[in-house]
Amino acid sequence: MAGATAVRVASGGDAVRRLYDRIGEFLIDQRLDAHPANYAFAYHLLANPDGPLAKAVRALTDGGVRLTQRDIEGLGCDLQPTHKSEIPDASPADGLVAQTQMQVEGFQDMVLAMRAETEGFGRDLAESAAAISRSATAGGSAAMIGEVAQITGAMLERVRTAEARLEAATREASELREKLEEARDNARRDPLTELPNRRAFEEAYAAQVATGEILCLAICDVDHFKAVNDQFGHAVGDRVLKAIAAALTEACSGQFVARYGGEEFAILFSAMDAETAGAKLDSARITVAAKRYRLRESDAPLGEITFSAGLTAATPSDTFHAAFQRSDRLLYAAKSAGRNCIRVG
Ligand code: GH3
Ligand code: MG
Ligand code: MG
Repeated sequence: MAGATAVRVASGGDAVRRLYDRIGEFLIDQRLDAHPANYAFAYHLLANPDGPLAKAVRALTDGGVRLTQRDIEGLGCDLQPTHKSEIPDASPADGLVAQTQMQVEGFQDMVLAMRAETEGFGRDLAESAAAISRSATAGGSAAMIGEVAQITGAMLERVRTAEARLEAATREASELREKLEEARDNARRDPLTELPNRRAFEEAYAAQVATGEILCLAICDVDHFKAVNDQFGHAVGDRVLKAIAAALTEACSGQFVARYGGEEFAILFSAMDAETAGAKLDSARITVAAKRYRLRESDAPLGEITFSAGLTAATPSDTFHAAFQRSDRLLYAAKSAGRNCIRVG
């Protein structure tokens, strides 16, 4: 493996042991899988703590941020082209992901170019050392001192170029991080209401149920919503959904409110028993039903907009599917009971 001979490790069993231990610590601290590519990355990083790779890693991990597997691939020893499909949550149609992809590729090019610069720098340094030693042997003639100055000048130039590239690469990396965060957030948000979407809701359920804390799950479905669309048009229906989302978020503040799909909203009530959560949900239902919606254009009333809901307490052993099905059945019961009401079970 080229990487194993490219960097010299201080001879002696102790130095090897120390390096080996530090590689292990690094992988554990950064929560990286112990596979060969990560070992190779950690080896390059730790065997040359002042090298460009170490500097790039310090810049990325500044402020306690952990490296991601993608950082390793971007900076790593065996630079592999990154494919769109490897980016989590990537949708081929997503322009942002395409843009991010281009940034990753640009970043890799920069790292490669920086490497070439630092290799040249190493060569210059060796030449400079040789010139200094020739100069010392020859008593420091003007010609030899000139040669050393020339080589040193070239070295400086390379250092500056490498620094500029490193700076640009670091900037690119942080932009990339932000864009990936944005893409992740977009994948978990409903664009119409700006509420978390079904995916985010299911993740939140899994995370909360794992804590063992008591938890209630509610499904709310707008009553006769089809009639709103039919009577006033889809655009008005959309505005009503936005208004309901805002009202539910306000009435259930502190709880996880999501648009589960269509005209259905889901709510996670954390650290709350079914009775308390039910009371909170019923008060949200009353608030929504009391609002008087009017057409923006003509101020004509839209009539009463209500929702029905089912709420259940989730036990730590409940799968999402099980808890959801119970709430859904209770929602159905609320619809059958005449709508604009909730059922708790
Ligand atoms: P029920 O009280 O039984 O729930 O009656 P409903 O009319 O609300 O239920 P139904 O399932 O028959 O219709 C739901 C409607 O919600 C149909 C669909 O067009 C509408 N809908 C779903 N998503 C959206 C959306 O994003 N915007 C708009 N405007 N309408 C939506
Ligand atoms: Mg529905
Ligand atoms: Mg409905």
